[in-house]
Amino acid sequence: MTTPHTSVTGNLRVPAPYNEPPRDFAPGSTEATLLLKEVDRVRGQVRELPSVIGGERLRLDTPTAVVAPHDHAHVLGHFSPAGEREVTAAIQAALRARPAWSRTPWWDRTAIFLRAADLVTGKYRDELLATTMLGQSKTFHQAEIDINELADFFRYNASFAAQIYDGQPFSVPGVWNVMDHRPLEGFVLAITPFNFTAIAGNLPATPALMGNVVVWKPSEKSALSSDVVMRVFEEAGLPPGVINLVHGFGAEVTAIAQRSEHLAGITFTGSTAVFRQLWKSTAANIDHYRSYPRLVGETGGKNAVVAHPSADPEALVTALVRGAFEYQGQKCSAASRTYVPRSLWQSIEQPLVDTTAGLRVGDVSRHDTFIGAVIDGGAAQRLEQAIERGKALDSHELLAGGTTRTDQGWFVDPTIFRTTDPRAITMSEEYFGPLLSVYVYNDDEWEQTLQLVDETSDYALCCSIFAGDRHAVAQALDVLRDAGGMTYVNDKPTGASIGQQSFGGSRGSGTNDKTGSPLALQRWITGRLIKENFSPAHDWTYPYMGRRG
Ligand code: NAD
Repeated sequence: MTTPHTSVTGNLRVPAPYNEPPRDFAPGSTEATLLLKEVDRVRGQVRELPSVIGGERLRLDTPTAVVAPHDHAHVLGHFSPAGEREVTAAIQAALRARPAWSRTPWWDRTAIFLRAADLVTGKYRDELLATTMLGQSKTFHQAEIDINELADFFRYNASFAAQIYDGQPFSVPGVWNVMDHRPLEGFVLAITPFNFTAIAGNLPATPALMGNVVVWKPSEKSALSSDVVMRVFEEAGLPPGVINLVHGFGAEVTAIAQRSEHLAGITFTGSTAVFRQLWKSTAANIDHYRSYPRLVGETGGKNAVVAHPSADPEALVTALVRGAFEYQGQKCSAASRTYVPRSLWQSIEQPLVDTTAGLRVGDVSRHDTFIGAVIDGGAAQRLEQAIERGKALDSHELLAGGTTRTDQGWFVDPTIFRTTDPRAITMSEEYFGPLLSVYVYNDDEWEQTLQLVDETSDYALCCSIFAGDRHAVAQALDVLRDAGGMTYVNDKPTGASIGQQSFGGSRGSGTNDKTGSPLALQRWITGRLIKENFSPAHDWTYPYMGRRG
């Protein structure tokens, strides 16, 4: 890869970013018909999903099947898990690409990702949707907002990068101070989760936009859509070796990458336990790294919806149904515990239970499906055990669901428990599935309840406050200040829009580096300050020393 020469001069302005509007996919609409045709096309193939290293596609030597979670006998493709040889080759390809890429003008890098955004919402849109629907079991709407978010990331990040490069230090007469926003020295390892194609694409793209080179290990459970994302990067003009895709299993790939002295950072989204492990194993290798690797992790959540007696009952039911059960509850931001005052519970219990019981669980390409399958057999089994544990607790009453069906797909019915124990495991542990736990409190215990919300779980990702009373909103915002990186007032905790509600949580939920904002890009640069003196001193003495001689 050679360093591009550019003949552009000027302080370039990036096109204004915007959020891609979601399409409706009403039954019989042109967009729904075209998408279903694409779903059929993808379903009718068995795709080869190769690792892509330095622009080369590797042959599959130990094929591992990728199946549709809602139809698990159906094989959609195969990948080969990367081992020592492939990961080492990916690191070498990245390091070879670094000299030219790190010197490529920022607007040339930005233009590639803006082109990628247009490919996501244009040529590849339906293929990305179809692979996300089939491979990750998302409904029309869930797949659409996911893919739109990928384009939103690329467009907003372009604008955030420009803002960052604009940031320059003050200078005094005779001096010019310049901040060189350098990429990190080495390569960045991106480890991505299965649940959002947008996150899978954004995690490697963000460091690359800032001039870094990347080894990207997508989730083995989203290999089908990750393959399309990689093709988008390539077609957008990303030079070979800047992002290297290695399919495979996290622990193996990470252990090999962590042995390289050139590991400059890890960008991870996934579970809290894995991130803690990554932190420890990186620290254990610290003596042989050339720099201190940056660790960015967005992890689990146990997101609370807390309602005040003044809350709007219908809005609350809608937020709980959508917040807890959309995409089978497999969102880090999903509502999974709720606190409802006794007076309000009387009016919402029946509508909440009836609506939940009426949600259709099944094949995501049917228009009447609200809930698809959970990602794999392991997830279904883990959720079944959690449900059985809940049923066995004296403090728990099963209000809806409580059943799993795994013969054709890994289906878990949306489940609601009511608990009389506000510190029960169902109020504190992340299940990452369609499980909602309800605690009904006495109306005069609002303030104690806010304390409970704050103290019950180790996570601090999202929380929602439902109240009509402004004073109650202010109280909740105060008590829950550290309980969530995102706090919603009279809205569900899911569905953050890029550029509007930047995303991230603290405590056990991560390093809170706020994707969808300039803060997330800041982690992938390391400043070099350049001071240029226009009038260098010629006399080494200072006035306080008096005249010499
Ligand atoms: P996961 O932790 O099982 O896997 C995430 C990635 O880590 C995958 O690529 C996987 O292969 C890899 N991995 C697994 N074990 C590893 C190990 N020992 N070492 C290194 N890498 C390893 O998570 P998941 O099931 O893909 O996603 C669900 C989790 O992600 C949930 O906990 C959810 O809350 C979280 N999540 C958080 C956010 C956020 O922004 N906070 C967003 C999405 C998902």
